Amino acid sequence: MPDTLRQDQDPEVTLITPSAPISTPTHGGRAKCLQRLVRLDMPVPRTVALRFDTVHRIARGAMPDIDRILAEFPRGALLCVRPSSEDPDWGGPGSVLNIGMNDAAYVELSDSIGADAASSLYQRFVMAYAIHVARLDPDVFEEIDGTGQDGLSEALRCYEEEAEEPFPQDPARQLAEVLRSMARAWDGTTARLLRQAKGAPVDAGLGLIVQQMALGLGIGECGSGVLQLVNSETGLPQITGRYLSQSQGREALQRGQKSLFLECDPRGPSLEEIAPEAFEQLKQYAAFMREKLRAEMQIEFTLENGSVHILDGVRVKRSARAALRIAVRLAEEGIISRQEAVMRVEPRGLSELLHRQIDPEAERDVLGRGVAASPGAATGRIVFSSSEAQASAARGEPCVLVRRETSPEDVRGMHAAVAVLTERGGITSHAAVIGRGLGLPCVVGAVRMGFRLHDKLLLAEDGRRFREGDIITVDGSSGQILAGAPKTIEAALDDAFQTFMSWADAERDIGIRANADTPADATTARNFAAQGIGLCRTEHMFFEAERITPMREMIFADSPDDRKAALARLLPMQRADFIELFRIMEGMPVCIRLFDPPLHEFLPSDRAGMRDLAEALDLPVSDVTRRVESMGEYNPMLGMRGVRLGIAVPEIYDMQARAIFEATLEASRDGAPVVPEIMLPLVSACREVELVRSRIDAVAAAVRHERGRDFDYSLGVMVETPRACLRADEIAQHAHFLSFGTNDLTQMTYGLSRDDAGRFMSDYVQQGVFPEDPFHRLDAEGVGELIRIGVRRGRQGNGGVMLSVCGEHGGNPESIAFCRSVGIDYVSCSPFRVPVARLAAAQLAIQDKMG
Ligand code: PEP
Ligand code: MG
Repeated sequence: MPDTLRQDQDPEVTLITPSAPISTPTHGGRAKCLQRLVRLDMPVPRTVALRFDTVHRIARGAMPDIDRILAEFPRGALLCVRPSSEDPDWGGPGSVLNIGMNDAAYVELSDSIGADAASSLYQRFVMAYAIHVARLDPDVFEEIDGTGQDGLSEALRCYEEEAEEPFPQDPARQLAEVLRSMARAWDGTTARLLRQAKGAPVDAGLGLIVQQMALGLGIGECGSGVLQLVNSETGLPQITGRYLSQSQGREALQRGQKSLFLECDPRGPSLEEIAPEAFEQLKQYAAFMREKLRAEMQIEFTLENGSVHILDGVRVKRSARAALRIAVRLAEEGIISRQEAVMRVEPRGLSELLHRQIDPEAERDVLGRGVAASPGAATGRIVFSSSEAQASAARGEPCVLVRRETSPEDVRGMHAAVAVLTERGGITSHAAVIGRGLGLPCVVGAVRMGFRLHDKLLLAEDGRRFREGDIITVDGSSGQILAGAPKTIEAALDDAFQTFMSWADAERDIGIRANADTPADATTARNFAAQGIGLCRTEHMFFEAERITPMREMIFADSPDDRKAALARLLPMQRADFIELFRIMEGMPVCIRLFDPPLHEFLPSDRAGMRDLAEALDLPVSDVTRRVESMGEYNPMLGMRGVRLGIAVPEIYDMQARAIFEATLEASRDGAPVVPEIMLPLVSACREVELVRSRIDAVAAAVRHERGRDFDYSLGVMVETPRACLRADEIAQHAHFLSFGTNDLTQMTYGLSRDDAGRFMSDYVQQGVFPEDPFHRLDAEGVGELIRIGVRRGRQGNGGVMLSVCGEHGGNPESIAFCRSVGIDYVSCSPFRVPVARLAAAQLAIQDKMG
C-alpha cells in the first residue's frame, strides 16, 4: 500500500519509510532518526511511529486502532515499544521488549530457535510486563532460580498469583497495555520534574515507536550490543561499546555481565574474534551514519544467527571536552561547517574544560550544598582563617578556606587557598567575585551547613563534624561540598580548544573583555584572548602587607598634609601595578576603575588588628577603636563610597590618576602607546563627573608638563545607579564611555543586597518569585529596562560614546544576548568566563545569520 494512502487512512499510525511524514516535533527524535537510518538503507527492523498527540490520547484512555498497528507486522512477530521524546536527553519510560510472546509463540519459537531461547524470551517478557505494565512488585520474581522451562513456569505462576489472572495471551491486549503504561509513565510527576530539570518544556510530548524484534537469542551467533566510534569522555576516536551473546536490548552494558569487547583486546575476548564479518559491517555502518547523519552516533544492534540488525541510533553521550573535540573533528573532515561546529558546544559546558572537574564516575559523599559561585573542583584541608590559609600554603598543604563570608581582608587567604566555602553570600558577593577572578572553585551561601568558626568546626547538613585539617572537596560547578578527595580530571585547553575558539571569534560581533585586577588575572585574560581589560578594580591592590599600613595611615590622617604623605608612599606601588598591567595587556585597552569601596573596609575588624594598627600609628588602642567605630556606616553600600569618596577625599583619586598617567608614559616607552581608560564608580549626578574630571584633567596636565611628554586617555562613568541610567544623556556629554555596573544596578533596582540575597534566593527561585537569580542572569524586564533607557539616552547625549557592561552578567550567555540586542559594544567578565562569553556571543551572531 502506498505511504500516502496509509496516512490518509490512519494518521495516528505511521510506518517508518523513507518518505513517511515523520518529524522530530511530532514523532520525537528516535522516530526521526530511525527514518534517517531507513533512508540510508540500514538493516532496520520494520517500525511504526505514534505521534505525540496520539500518545497523549492513549494516556487519557483513547487507544488507536491496535489491530491496525499489528497488521503492519508479519503475523506472530514479536514487537518492542520504545520512547521517542523530542530531545533524547529528556529521557522517557524504559523500552518493553518481546511483546506478542505467549504460549502459542513459545511453541513455534521452540521449534525455530530452540526451547531454551524461547523460554528465556517468554520469561523476560512476563517479568518486564509484570513490573512495568501490571506494576507488580519486582520482589515477586526474586525467588525464581531456575532457567529454561522451569524458570518460565515459575514466572508465569508468580504472575498469576500476584495479578490474580493468567498472563494475558492476546498480543493486541499486551500491546495496548504496554502503550498505555508507557504513555502514563511520561505524565508522572517524577518524570515531568526530571525532564524539566533538563530543560524540557512543561508540555513536552512523547512519541512511541513499535518495532519488530530482532531476537538476539537463538541458534548461531545471536546477541546484542552497542557500538560507537569515539570515546565519550575524551572525544578521541576509539571503538567503544560491548556485545553479549544471547542477549537483548542494552543487557551487554549491565554490570556483572560477561560482555565482550568489540575490537580485539588483550583484556578478553571480542566480537571481532567471534564474528569478524558482523564486526566489520557494524564499523562500516557506524562510519556511514557518522558521515550521513553528520554526528557521532551510538548504534544499538542485534545479531541474529550472525546477521546484523540496527535497532537504533542515538547521538553519542559526551562530556564537554568530548563535545568540543567531536565538533572540531567533524568540521575538519568537512562533514559539518565551522559554524555548525561552533553551535554544537554548550557555552556553559566550556567552563568544564577550563577547570579541573570531579570525575563523573567518582562517588560523591555530599556534605552540603550552596550557590555554585565559581566553577571547578579542588580538594584541601579545612582552614577557618586567612592567616591559617597562608600558613597552610607555606607548608605546601592545599587548603579550603571556610568563612562565614569573605571581606577584602581575606583576599590574601583566598590567594593561598585552593577553594573557598562560605555560609553567606550569593553569586555576586565578595567570595564569588574574587573566586571567579582567581579561577578558584567557590561555593557560597551554604546556609544549611553549620559554621562554628569559634570551635573550628564545620557541620555537614546531616550533622557530621569536620574539624580544621580534615579534607573536603569544593565543587564550585555543582555547588556541592564533598567529603574527602574524589577523583578529579584536569582542565583541557588543547589544540582542539584553540581551533574551536578561533572559529567562534570569526563569527562574533560583540567585544569581550575581562575584569582583571592583578597581573595573574591579566595574564589569564590574555591567554583566554580577552580583547582588553574592561574593569580593573583598583581597591584590591591595597591589601598586600606593605600597602595596608600606609593605606590605613592615609585613612587615619588628620590633615591633608598627613594624607598626602601617606598617599605619596602608595603612589609608586600603584604606578608599578599599572605598568605591569599595561605591559601584559600591550596593545589592548585597559579600563581602570578608581577606588570604589567605603574606606572603613580597609580598617581592622577584630581586637588583634586594632592593636596592630595602634602600634603602627603609635596611638592608644582606644583611639583606634573609637575612630574605626566612628567610620562605620548603617548602610555602607549606599554610603560614602565610589565617586563620593572622590569628591569628599579627592587626594585618593588624584594619586590614582597620577599613577595611571606616569605608568602610561613608562609603559609606552618600550611598547605600543598605551591609552588608559579611567572609570568613575557609583556616579548618580552629572556634577560628580564634572568635578572629578576637572581634577583628573589637571593631574594629566601636570604630568605632561613635568615629563615633557604627551599622552591620551579616556574618561568614563560606571552606570550602576538607577539615576545614572535616567540621566545618561547629560552624563554621557562628559564621558568617552559608559559601563553598566550591573551588579550594583541590580542591587539598587531591586533594593536587594547582593551580599545577603543568597539566604533566600533559592526559595525565591523555587517558588517562581524570580525566574532566576537576577545577580546571575540579568533581569531583562526591570534592570534591562533601565539599561535600555541608559543606552538610548547615553547615545542621545553623545553619539560617539562607547557602551559596555562590566557586572558579573557579562559572562552569562542569556545576559550577553540581552546586551547584544540593546547595542552594547562589549561585555567584560571574569577571566575564566571569557571563553564562555566568546562562544555565547558567537552563537548569537550565527543564529542571526541563519535567520
Ligand atoms: C558592578 O557593580 O556591576 C561592578 C562591576 O562593580 P562592583 O562589582 O565592583 O561593585
Ligand atoms: Mg559596582
